[in-house]
Amino acid sequence: ALNGQKHWQPAWRDTEPKSHYDIIIIGGGGHGLATAYYLAKVHGLRNIAVLEKGWIGGGNTGRNTTIVRSNYRLKPLHDLFEFGLKLWHNLSDELNYNVMFSPRGAMFLGHSDADMVKLAERGDAMRCDGIDADLMTRDEVAKLEPLLDMSRSARFPIEGGLIQRRGGTARHDAVAWGYARGADSFGVDIIQKCEVTGFVREGDAVVGVETTQGRIGAGRVGICVAGHSGHVAGLAGLKLPVESQTLQAMVTEGVKPMINSVIMSQSLHCYISQSDKGGIVFGGDPDNWPSYAQRGHPMVMEGAIAQGLALVPALSRLRMVRTWSGVTDMSFDGSPIIGETPVRNLYLNGGWCYGGFKATPASGWTYAHTLATGSAHPLNAPFSLERFMTGATIDETGTGPMPN
Ligand code: FAD
Repeated sequence: ALNGQKHWQPAWRDTEPKSHYDIIIIGGGGHGLATAYYLAKVHGLRNIAVLEKGWIGGGNTGRNTTIVRSNYRLKPLHDLFEFGLKLWHNLSDELNYNVMFSPRGAMFLGHSDADMVKLAERGDAMRCDGIDADLMTRDEVAKLEPLLDMSRSARFPIEGGLIQRRGGTARHDAVAWGYARGADSFGVDIIQKCEVTGFVREGDAVVGVETTQGRIGAGRVGICVAGHSGHVAGLAGLKLPVESQTLQAMVTEGVKPMINSVIMSQSLHCYISQSDKGGIVFGGDPDNWPSYAQRGHPMVMEGAIAQGLALVPALSRLRMVRTWSGVTDMSFDGSPIIGETPVRNLYLNGGWCYGGFKATPASGWTYAHTLATGSAHPLNAPFSLERFMTGATIDETGTGPMPN
């Protein structure tokens, strides 16, 4: 600002597509950019392009509520998300870019004895896998978040909680920008306003993509388009076990610090945190019908706000300044899909539902391995597309509703 917003150096090059790349990644969100970064950094590949139909980070990466945690219930998810959480803790140093990772604690509230049993089970499962989890009494919850309505007459009485203290939030845009700059510094081409509209086939293999900037050849192609997974895979004749749904969020005007952790309620599917600018960020359930509209139904947001105000009545004094939404690809078992597709040279990273931001580093790391070697990384092996045929699903949704 001191130089009048002039003379800024672009953080990555604006390039024209080449005629051929060893690897093309479709989708310039955090996952696609992280994949490109680790392909270059870890696997030494250089002839890589990321094709983005809009602008990088303009999809769910720039629309999410920034919650980062690894407090899942099932082992394959523990392994993947915990690996990611460890990468988060060092990500600003790794990228030399401040992603503002803030491990302020991610806390689930329990509203009944049954909730508390489920939280205790989840905490036990996490600790068995070496992940930190502390079951909290009512008093401990009240001490951490004094503005919660802890009265016995509260609409949603609070019986206790489960906290992962290493969880928290990160600046979503910075994650996209940091990975983009890092990938660019290794020579990765980041091509914006370049929509993939079809695949070039030779027999049973993909050998390139058709785009709004022309045909581009590729050795391997990785789909990484979140809510558009079903659509893009459909261009290759695949029907995925995902449904695209809208997920909304909102933020209030900025205020002094009043929410100390990330507060999530499993039973309500409502979550609240405070951004570093001071705004209170709210989120809730997806609009539970298929849609590609990046605009949600007010009724759903109203429900989440009503729950949030019941939990923290002081929030009722704040003005909402913005609400927005993104298109999420809801998989049928609530877990992501990372790996091969039945089409040779075509790979898929999707099905992240409403919780893939936190996985960005792990998703990029493991997908890069798969794209570089043509085989699964041990951490993404359980998340194959094939599991929906063999029945080896990873049914996190069956363990209870999960906030972001
Ligand atoms: P995106 O960032 O969506 O990137 C995909 C890109 O692909 C887009 O930029 C899109 O333009 C591009 N694309 C699509 N089609 C094409 C095409 N044909 N050609 C070229 N490019 C194409 N997760 C959490 O872990 N914590 C949270 O707190 C959280 N909150 C959320 C709140 C909301 C409101 C939403 C919508 C999501 C939330 N999520 C959260 C989920 C998380 O945002 C996503 O899982 C994650 O960001 C997905 O990253 P991505 O890089 O795969 O997708």
